Amino acid sequence: MGYALGIDFGTSGLRAILINEAKKPIWQTRVSLEQQTPRAWWMGLSTVLDEIPELWRPGLLAIALNGTSGTVLLCDDRGQPISDTLLYNDSRANSVSSQVQHLVPPQHPAASSTSSFSKLIWFRQQSSLPGNSYFLHQADWLSFRLHGQLGISDYHNSLKLGYDPQSLSYPDWIPQDNPRLPHVVAPGTAIGPLTPDISRRFGLPKTCQVHAGTTDSIAAFLASGASQPGEAVTSLGSTLVLKLLSHQRVDDSRYGVYSHRLGDLWLTGGASNTGGAVLQRFFSQGELEELSDRLPHPPSPLQYYPLLQPGERFPINDPDYPPQLEPKPDNSLDFLHGLLDSMARIEAQGYQRLRELGAPELKRVYTAGGGANNDAWMRLREARLGVPVTRSLETEAAYGTALLAFSSGLKLP
Ligand code: ADP
Repeated sequence: MGYALGIDFGTSGLRAILINEAKKPIWQTRVSLEQQTPRAWWMGLSTVLDEIPELWRPGLLAIALNGTSGTVLLCDDRGQPISDTLLYNDSRANSVSSQVQHLVPPQHPAASSTSSFSKLIWFRQQSSLPGNSYFLHQADWLSFRLHGQLGISDYHNSLKLGYDPQSLSYPDWIPQDNPRLPHVVAPGTAIGPLTPDISRRFGLPKTCQVHAGTTDSIAAFLASGASQPGEAVTSLGSTLVLKLLSHQRVDDSRYGVYSHRLGDLWLTGGASNTGGAVLQRFFSQGELEELSDRLPHPPSPLQYYPLLQPGERFPINDPDYPPQLEPKPDNSLDFLHGLLDSMARIEAQGYQRLRELGAPELKRVYTAGGGANNDAWMRLREARLGVPVTRSLETEAAYGTALLAFSSGLKLP
């Protein structure tokens, strides 16, 4: 029996899941991160590798890891970090936004001020930039520490660097001289075995292959079980995030809609500002659960647009869009029913918007995030969406990344 290890680097810590060839999780661990520095990441990764039970070590065939999208650093030609680490939400690249807008084609996802591309341009402006440096994403650098080949990335981490996953090349508008940009492969591609040092130090097989990784949110999608065009994952966390598998690439920057490549399919989606954060403003966790058990089945007559503050991007694009939370009924059960059913209505509008932009008809919706625990909401959503709605089979990004480690790379046409 052979095993694959998936490791998810999140904002507060890392989680690892070991799966067997039947794709069943057989062991997992979690390590918290005190800091977001390459040194702290490496210590966390070392702890995870040390913790793998002896029993499973000889059978470890593959490892892959996912990072937080947009967390980047520079290193020298031996792979030593030589810059500050710019985390996914680092806003320093705001200062180069006019250069970025000048270089990037209109409407491109690389144009945002927190994109890897904006961070690349920021690094290039620093007087301290040495020659011969390498630009890497968090997942690229950590994988390098395991396989020893410097300068390799995947087309999920590199999308907002501007890499074109359709033509599988960097467009001309990306400066490539210094720092050097990574060579990009399909997520899941076997890059090479563990270095002899790593294999010895952690007692892992010399033959264990390190596979190209992905980003945290795509890893969570891969975990869900969705695999066919028309299948989607809705994440009901603080916000409402939709992801739908499509034959077509669907992009529309007005709505913040863009597509990642998934082998010969595309993963498209959008994010609304409605979601669980609004529920938290009005209800405690206990109230949410207790009231949800008593939720009426029919749709609510209340037509809300639940937002914490004005402004919406998807499925409606209006930076001043007002929250609609009136009329507020006297009893909190009717209020919660109105909020949940209105979010279900917005979710349905979201999938309708993706369809208008060229995505396929919705066939099935998997659900992740805190709201996935609400069965009554699932039934309201099923009525609004008109397709089966279930929980995701697995929700941990580390599980999706372990599946990727077992693949031999997302299929290319
Ligand atoms: P995030 O990672 O985006 O912060 P989570 O996936 O952890 O969010 O989910 C947290 C959200 O889920 C909270 O905003 C909360 O309102 C919502 N939530 C938790 N339990 C329920 C429930 N039973 N019904 C509806 N929403 C819930």
